[in-house]
Amino acid sequence: MATKPVILWFRRDLRLHDNPALNHAAETGRPILPVFILDRNPDRQTGAASLWWLDKSLRALDASLQTRGSRLILRSGDSLSQLQKLIQETNADAVFMNRLFEPQAFERDAEIAHALKADAVDCRGFNGSLLCRPGAVLNGTGGPYKVFTPFLKALLAQAEPPAHTTGPREIDTPTAVESESIDDWKLHPTGPDWSKGFDWTPGEDGGSAALSDFLAHGLKAYSVGRDHPDRPATSRLSPHLHWGEISPWRAVERARDAAAAGKVPAAEAEKFVAEIGWRDFSAHLLHHFPTMPERAFRPEYDAMPWRDDPKGLEAWKRGRTGYPLVDAGMRQLWATGWMHNRVRMVVASFLVKHLLIDWREGEAWFWDTLVDADLASNVQNWQWVAGSGADAAPYFRIFNPIAQGEKFDAKGGYVRRWVPELRALSDRWLQAPWTAPAEVLRDAGLRLGKDYPHPILDHGQARARALDALKTVSGRG
Ligand code: FAD
Repeated sequence: MATKPVILWFRRDLRLHDNPALNHAAETGRPILPVFILDRNPDRQTGAASLWWLDKSLRALDASLQTRGSRLILRSGDSLSQLQKLIQETNADAVFMNRLFEPQAFERDAEIAHALKADAVDCRGFNGSLLCRPGAVLNGTGGPYKVFTPFLKALLAQAEPPAHTTGPREIDTPTAVESESIDDWKLHPTGPDWSKGFDWTPGEDGGSAALSDFLAHGLKAYSVGRDHPDRPATSRLSPHLHWGEISPWRAVERARDAAAAGKVPAAEAEKFVAEIGWRDFSAHLLHHFPTMPERAFRPEYDAMPWRDDPKGLEAWKRGRTGYPLVDAGMRQLWATGWMHNRVRMVVASFLVKHLLIDWREGEAWFWDTLVDADLASNVQNWQWVAGSGADAAPYFRIFNPIAQGEKFDAKGGYVRRWVPELRALSDRWLQAPWTAPAEVLRDAGLRLGKDYPHPILDHGQARARALDALKTVSGRG
């Protein structure tokens, strides 16, 4: 090959717009070899719903590359060996990538960079996934922020939004390079195919369309609407952001542009920006406290007297706890690979506080079933609910699943959609069907214990038990 190509190593930056590694590769003026390597996730085996997403997202990326005269080369196996093999095959002498910030991935990448540099390969990493690289926003004493609000304030004050870029129109890619076939990777589930209800368009176009839709409809009343699971009031950008199909800065700037054009109130746009800030905060915490996936951020919480309750855990996973809002959430998760944020908080609190089951069990289930499963956000949020995290919910905050349903799903649209056996119950009884008089249940054609379970625990008793346990570990006993 006359001019040595640059390997563009795609990982969780599956887009061509606003892609710093691609832009830097293009600036060299040399041929670009876009590659994705299916390797073991260094931090934790990728979940099943995430693999479903990855399958579609890689196909979409390949299609976009083809419109620019290029294509995606697929390889599987150990990342360093595969890169070295490609370097040998193509005579490439540079590898550009957007960084991953999870602890093990970060370390693995540093080792790869070290090994490649020893072979005189120009290896460069960029930040394409976060508003601000972890470690760049520190408090007055040079330490990491542990509270969200000052973190966000400092981040927004110091971060420079990068200019919007669309990437090169033509990408010159060497042709004689072999690629594996994505069909052979079998990332899509079979036997059974549990993904039939997944209503998503993975890929850069899907992410951009989801954002446009949200800006046109959800953003104007986001701060109130975002708490109501029966309304399409949130962006549903989380899987697109996780896989890097859209840059977080692009989402921020488009929301702010909508406000500047008078289409939405500025306060609504800033509320959305703050939620994206929570994503950065999670990544920043995981970077500075790498044991967070295994251990409580507040170590005293690791002494929680967790219960071993396989039946309770199974009822929770299957959406058969007898608490309609909890069951609706768990069924939405199973059917679509996603759950509304308000309901995530309620179901997580139910597992950790009502059932007193270790938050790591719930986190693992979410990890496998969410299309937006993200180590930093998942762990940070589970620890927030459990009370053991940085800037966490206070220990005595125990979501009442009945009251939450009555407040945030007042018309019952969400519960009726995901728990259809309760459809004929009136709003008055919907969130606590066991309190309904016998004739009401009969008229609704509902046999408790047959069509829908009796509640697996009593809210008041479970609350008291949780408070006792939490008081001991939080030092208030
Ligand atoms: P929007 O309301 O439109 O928010 C915009 C974006 O901001 C989201 O796409 C997301 O990237 C970010 N964001 C919003 N809320 C949070 C938050 N609390 N923490 C971090 N980022 C946030 N989010 C994940 O992306 N992956 C996870 O694995 C994950 N696990 C969670 C587990 C629990 C127990 C809880 C309570 C929350 C979890 N979240 C997780 C956060 C949140 O529920 C989702 O990001 C949000 O529901 C995604 O929907 P959306 O894109 O419509 O959100």
